[in-house]
Amino acid sequence: MRINHIFYSIQGEGKLAGVASVFLRTTGCNLRCVWCDTPDTSWQPVGEQMSVARIMDRLAEFPSHFAVVTGGEPMIADGIVELTRTLRDGGYHVTIETAATVYKDVVCDLASLSPKLANSTPWERDDGRHADAHEKNRINVETIRRFIAASADYQLKFVVTDPSDLPEIELLLSRIGDLPPENVLLMPEGVDEAGIAPKRRWIADLCKRHGYRYCPRLHLDIYGHTRGT
Ligand code: SF4
Repeated sequence: MRINHIFYSIQGEGKLAGVASVFLRTTGCNLRCVWCDTPDTSWQPVGEQMSVARIMDRLAEFPSHFAVVTGGEPMIADGIVELTRTLRDGGYHVTIETAATVYKDVVCDLASLSPKLANSTPWERDDGRHADAHEKNRINVETIRRFIAASADYQLKFVVTDPSDLPEIELLLSRIGDLPPENVLLMPEGVDEAGIAPKRRWIADLCKRHGYRYCPRLHLDIYGHTRGT
């Protein structure tokens, strides 16, 4: 399995925000979000091959039994199913962070599903050469449904850039099926205060109006946009 980074931090997003967790970041992604905040796993992927046994040894260095498997897109990483089963056998609570475009039969306590909205498509970046493939692959309703059905708990997290993102979110929710609105998270796009602050109030207003959950980016508040946090 090709690993970009293993690190220990505070989960910044979602239902477990604030929980000290070990993060395992795979490298490689089938999407190319224009605002991707981990381009070293997607646009210019870097990483080293590690066995599941070696990964488990590294994780054991940290005093937490909360493991977050993230990316990149972890569902396209070789050995992902074996890794999640080994984590569970090792007593970890397993969160999977995925764009939910590819399904694998992973073991998962919290499926953090982040379907990418139209605001993610890179029409101009890199001369737009990834735009068509990204646009074609960014939503897979059946995969989202399978993760929801197979996971003990889930959250549907949307990166939002503008109030006009809401109709696309509502259309997708209607295609997925009847979901409790508190499992729908709206998270401001941005990696610093200047990018996030202008979005907080209108996102909070949308959450209040629809019953959705506001998703902070706590790790950015604490550490800023730095690798390994
Ligand atoms: S799915 Fe995630 S890792 Fe892949 S390009 Fe989008 S933001 Fe980056």
